[in-house]
Amino acid sequence: MIDARPGAAVLVVEDDPGMGRFLVDTLEAAGYRTSRALDGRAGLAALGSTPVDMVILDLGLPDIDGMDVLRTIRQWEQMPLILVVSARGQEADKVAALRAGADDYIAKPFGVQELLARVEARLRRHDRSELEQPIELGRVQIDLAASQALVGGRPVRLTPMEKGVLQDLARHRGRVRTHREILAAVWGPGYTAEHAYVRTIVQRLRAKLEEEPEAPRLLLTIPGVGYLMQGSLATAAAGNQPVD
Ligand code: CA
Repeated sequence: MIDARPGAAVLVVEDDPGMGRFLVDTLEAAGYRTSRALDGRAGLAALGSTPVDMVILDLGLPDIDGMDVLRTIRQWEQMPLILVVSARGQEADKVAALRAGADDYIAKPFGVQELLARVEARLRRHDRSELEQPIELGRVQIDLAASQALVGGRPVRLTPMEKGVLQDLARHRGRVRTHREILAAVWGPGYTAEHAYVRTIVQRLRAKLEEEPEAPRLLLTIPGVGYLMQGSLATAAAGNQPVD
């Protein structure tokens, strides 16, 4: 039994009539509110006019490539979750979509239960907010309660899964988190083999947060194991003096 978040709104962007109807019927039967767009332009227009919690996005669209739709959505202030549903089942396609900002990827064909489990897991984790103290590491501030990060006082736009990974590493800062632990905590227990998910998200986080993403000081790779967020940075650890 899937426990849909009441009122969660899902936009289905899919040109194939049969697949589109299947997605809409499945989601509505599980209690979601749905809307549907038949191509990329209609999808972007629908997103601009109504609040949407999640977009289910086909990559093979007749007008705009789904990857470009994905990149466009990611430039907006509003950050819906994006679940890519695609016939492009290669690892490289999956990684490209995740790098471009997708939160999850399902290769066609897939079953009803898998689809619903993934939608539900994404929305549930997105919802979870906890009261926690803001963290300051050098010029980076992480406000877990508001699920926001600032660099040099400026807010950084993060996708839902970037927030999830950042929060997971921040909650365990100073300790190594394995790929499996991060995947289980952020994506769900069914994802523990998807190391590429974590890798791409950590790369994106470094690009947004680190002064030198190629020589990270905040989000460290522990080769063959996972990742670690520094408990303190050299400047921040120097004492109780304010650090700017
Ligand atoms: Ca298609």
